[in-house]
Amino acid sequence: PRLANQIAAGEVVERPASVIKELLENSLDAGATRIDIDVEEGGVKLLRVRDDGCGIDPDDLPLALSRHATSKIVELDDLERVATLGFRGEALASVSSVSRLTLTSAIEGAEQAWQVETEGRDMQPRVQPAAHPRGTTVEVRDLFFNTPARRKFLRTEKTEFSHLEEVVKRLALSRFDVAFNLRHNGKPVLALRAAQSEAEARRRVASVCGPAFVEQSLQIDSERGGLRLWGWVGLPTFSRSQADLQYFYVNGRLIRDKLVAHAVRQAYRDVLYNGRHPTFVLFMELDPAVVDVNVHPTKHEVRFRDSRMVHDFLFSTLHRALAEQRP
Ligand code: ADP
Ligand code: MG
Repeated sequence: PRLANQIAAGEVVERPASVIKELLENSLDAGATRIDIDVEEGGVKLLRVRDDGCGIDPDDLPLALSRHATSKIVELDDLERVATLGFRGEALASVSSVSRLTLTSAIEGAEQAWQVETEGRDMQPRVQPAAHPRGTTVEVRDLFFNTPARRKFLRTEKTEFSHLEEVVKRLALSRFDVAFNLRHNGKPVLALRAAQSEAEARRRVASVCGPAFVEQSLQIDSERGGLRLWGWVGLPTFSRSQADLQYFYVNGRLIRDKLVAHAVRQAYRDVLYNGRHPTFVLFMELDPAVVDVNVHPTKHEVRFRDSRMVHDFLFSTLHRALAEQRP
């Protein structure tokens, strides 16, 4: 089973950033209101995610690390199919097969926390008593210590950390109601309190995207025919030299979609933003029944039932907002 896990791990666990994504999604699934992330050496030496979520029942702890009973990799034929499904229910098993993993958890009202440890080997993890408030801590040490080929593909500490930080930022923008703290080699990188008000949400965007973006952006909030678009759109005075600042969420899920990108670019181009790269943090909300965000779990694509209407709505909303800003 470990071999199967390691094959799976090759797909789901590419680098520290992919591990963090899985761990954070688990914490959010568990209803966490606060997530603390500690990283050492770009995440290769240590990744620790601590949450105050519902916790895991001690009886289920070893189970959380094992591949789900309905094994997905039955034959080699299945490999491809599994890859496209994004390994649901396989993340912890995969990560534990290529690292030294400790899972510590306490459920509501429990007198005692419990812990399981694995070390990349095929062994029955032992459940031991531990100290932990309600919630879960997953500690991942020495990623790829037993898969040197994979370890060779890792880049510098700085690069790995910047990928990881980007994952945290994307999720932090999708959940204003959850506090996120990120530390690298003991230094605070992001300290985001749960945002209850619009002002606090704005502060979070400033922390994540930089204060200059918020100051030189247009705040929008528009609704039409069951579609709502809100967020921040960078003005032409805001120029970004480094990476793209383009975050678009549909019903809370980050997406990268051709239709959306086209509508935004079109609106920008029409209003003197010639040649400028659009920058935005935007949230679109619509009836979940008219959008399919599960087209591909890793590619962040969506399919709208009425893509024409969505395109028109995005274009006209942004166009109007930007045009009003024209000097
Ligand atoms: P999946 O999330 O797809 O079920 P994972 O391998 O990521 O698969 O996690 C396995 C199981 O472990 C989850 O279904 C959940 O029951 C439990 N689990 C993992 N992380 C947490 C957490 N932070 N809080 C509570 N339960 C967790
Ligand atoms: Mg998961």
